[in-house]
Amino acid sequence: MKGFTTRIVHSDRGKPIEHGSLQKPIHATVAYGYDDARDLAAAFQGTKPGFTYGRQVNPTVEALQDKVTTMEGGVATVCFGTGMAAIGTTLFSLLRAGDHFVSSSFLFGNTNSLFNSFATQGLDVTFVDATDVSQVEAAITPATKLVFVETIANPRTQVSALAEIGALCEARGLIYFVDNTMTSPYLFQPKDVGASLVINSLTKYIGGHGNALGGSVTEMGRFDWRGFGNLYDTYRTGDPSRWAITQIKKKGLRDFGAALAPEAAHHIAIGAETLALRMEQQCANTLAMATFLDAHPLVSAVYYPGLDSHPQHERAKALFRHPGALFSFELDHSVDLWAFLNRLEVIVKSSNLGDNRTLAIPVAHTIYYEMGPERRASMGIDESLIRISVGIEDTDDLLDDLTRAFEG
Ligand SMILES: *Cc1c(COP(=O)(O)O)cnc(C)c1O
Repeated sequence: MKGFTTRIVHSDRGKPIEHGSLQKPIHATVAYGYDDARDLAAAFQGTKPGFTYGRQVNPTVEALQDKVTTMEGGVATVCFGTGMAAIGTTLFSLLRAGDHFVSSSFLFGNTNSLFNSFATQGLDVTFVDATDVSQVEAAITPATKLVFVETIANPRTQVSALAEIGALCEARGLIYFVDNTMTSPYLFQPKDVGASLVINSLTKYIGGHGNALGGSVTEMGRFDWRGFGNLYDTYRTGDPSRWAITQIKKKGLRDFGAALAPEAAHHIAIGAETLALRMEQQCANTLAMATFLDAHPLVSAVYYPGLDSHPQHERAKALFRHPGALFSFELDHSVDLWAFLNRLEVIVKSSNLGDNRTLAIPVAHTIYYEMGPERRASMGIDESLIRISVGIEDTDDLLDDLTRAFEG
């Protein structure tokens, strides 16, 4: 098999591209016309390949879906307007009132918010420390259908017990739903630990340039959907490994309408070509910055799985190509948080992650503000915690920027 980047860069050539165009064109269309009405009906019935309506399918988006499937080594992918749309639509499509799922408590803040909303709609969720498989196991009930984890949690960088939870899900017949956003398929393929479904926020590393929102869910072909009662009969035809992803695409996208725009799909597809090149530089920068701060007398803690001191350092080393491009740290309380941040010149004060630019954000005061101090404390978020999403700048410029910010 060809290498990771070769496969991404040449992925569109797996199907004919209009006029031999090297870039998949942006198909700015909502609907598709047919000469023979029977072909239109066949496209709707799925008996012949064909495009129906832009909320569910578009050729530019389809090319990106194939690219993500290639990257993850999966069976098929559906794209969405955002990563949150991918998570929300997938769970809404597959679970029903009365079902229960287990989730890591170390979650992207918006996913945490979404799961709490689910809990008000008759879906039951239990949050556990997913770095420890025994806590996941203890939370399983007869109503449990699914386990949700992130690979590396943001901002404190806990690494879930990915392989052990995969084995548990397989033994108990549970859907294993892995959010691979923080690692991206270049650093880690959740398929290797038995994931059933993998989501990526394409907004982050895969798109990489902070210029387009997008999300995806990929079917890995590991779960036996024949025994899963929440699938409608219309989608139970053909290869069983495609039943659930077809329900997510046909019913989920139809019901919720969170489609990815073709223009955004184009931006993301261009970004994806350099995923490996960018991540190599980003991960090297991250290790340099985390190591520098770890040795600094005015820093009280650094959280990065690449450091020996990290509780899941060995697990990260065993599972990931590199331990990610995001870390967080706590300043000594003698350092003024705002003055420190405002002295940064190269590093931008901003939310988002996975951009080519290095971004810093004071976590408790921004993305975790709404949660309140109690929930923050329970998630280990100190008031001085700064999250850094590391970009592709030259390493010395980033280290100089940090050095200057401490000098005042
Ligand atoms: C950003 C992010 C999401 C949501 O993605 P959006 O594209 O911003 O909706 C989901 N999971 C993780 C881990 C993220 O970092």
